[in-house]
Amino acid sequence: MQPTHENRSSLILAGAPTSPNPYNDLMNGNAESRGLAILGSTGSIGTQALEVVDAHPERLRVVAITAHSNVELLEEQARKYRPTLVGMVSEKAAMEIKRRLEGAGIEVAAGPECLIEAAAYPLADTVLNGVVGSAGLPPTLAALGAGKRLALANKESMVAGGELVLEALKTGGELIPVDSEHGAIFHCLRGEEISEVEAVVLTASGGPFYGRSREELESVTVEDALAHPTWSMGRKITIDSATLMNKGLEVIEAHYLFEVAYDAIKVVAHPQSVVHSLVEFRDGSLSAQLSLPDMRLPISLALSYPERWGPPFKHTDMAALGALAFGEIDRGAFGCLDLAYRAGREGGLATAVLNAANEMAVAAFLEGRMGFLDIERVIGETLEKYEPARARSLQDVIRAEEWARAVAEEITGEAA
Ligand code: NAD
Ligand code: MG
Repeated sequence: MQPTHENRSSLILAGAPTSPNPYNDLMNGNAESRGLAILGSTGSIGTQALEVVDAHPERLRVVAITAHSNVELLEEQARKYRPTLVGMVSEKAAMEIKRRLEGAGIEVAAGPECLIEAAAYPLADTVLNGVVGSAGLPPTLAALGAGKRLALANKESMVAGGELVLEALKTGGELIPVDSEHGAIFHCLRGEEISEVEAVVLTASGGPFYGRSREELESVTVEDALAHPTWSMGRKITIDSATLMNKGLEVIEAHYLFEVAYDAIKVVAHPQSVVHSLVEFRDGSLSAQLSLPDMRLPISLALSYPERWGPPFKHTDMAALGALAFGEIDRGAFGCLDLAYRAGREGGLATAVLNAANEMAVAAFLEGRMGFLDIERVIGETLEKYEPARARSLQDVIRAEEWARAVAEEITGEAA
């Protein structure tokens, strides 16, 4: 493993030495109850995070929740968990929720800025980012800037702005990954020296099309792609899992989180999704984290660390599981993984471009505007047009994304 600067993993584990959040001492003094802000509370990750809260009401208090536009569910959650702040990204939906929650003593924030407000909310000491897409990057930076613990499910933050996130981490806050693979690596690295790590091995279920040839992928439908065999997740990540771009995004996420060179990040197919990932040490030994697939486990670990909270949501009965299988990824059939490695090695704004083109292409596929294999083609062609540039600021990332979306949209239009 070739770290590009010293011991980043301890940065993630321990966070910055001092925190600018004036409420932290107060919150930390009350060790039994942590203030939690959930960004994307109506989504797959958000609702599972609330189930973790339900299991530990004495340890977690929901102080802020945000959603894009699901008024019904956000209202229901607000009435149940009594946060003091709710945010709605859609202005129209925000007006509606404000009307419905009138007199409830809950502040309503509207527009994309509501994510920043919730991420830096003084009453929160932990922020769970379960937003989908690179819309999650500004609140990721805001949470770290405000000295929070960031439980990060939003992998697109790391892909679009990994360098910026690491810069933010040097000045404040701490980051605990929620993505199951990175949660597993985080778990395997507890008590280990990062210098003794040879490689990390990300497992991939392979998605619904594992074992299919390129020809067979040509005619798959949106419905086929949404039928994930082992995980129930939001629509965008489910399509990413079918193209294997999800694994590509996770390779880039692992590179930034654990300071692992791309040559030392391996991917292995594992259809049962029981081994969540592995760490390979210098002496050849491998450590892995296993459990039945259930996102409430990595969510819970990110909220409870350094403690572990029980009882478990699911017990894993190894004898009942029987055999666990591992195999090669068919990189010829699933080209998105190599596109992600290529963008990752290129560095700078290439990964922001990859991510934005992917978001655009997945939306076009879900809307029925193009075929499954066009996703990979649109991303590849967008990357071909990209001129290398550094990611110095959030503005740089936003501009690169706008450029990539426009280019990807043009290519998508030609495909339609
Ligand atoms: P989802 O679509 O189910 O939920 C997304 C949430 O974000 C919703 O609450 C939605 O209202 C909100 N949202 C959507 N667009 C937004 C925007 N532009 N601005 C602000 N909020 C917006 O998605 P999900 O499956 O919960 O995934 C969330 C994130 O977690 C993704 O980055 C995904 O890759 C990652 N993740 C998910 C899982 C999983 O099991 N679902 C596992 C690992 C990682
Ligand atoms: Mg994952």
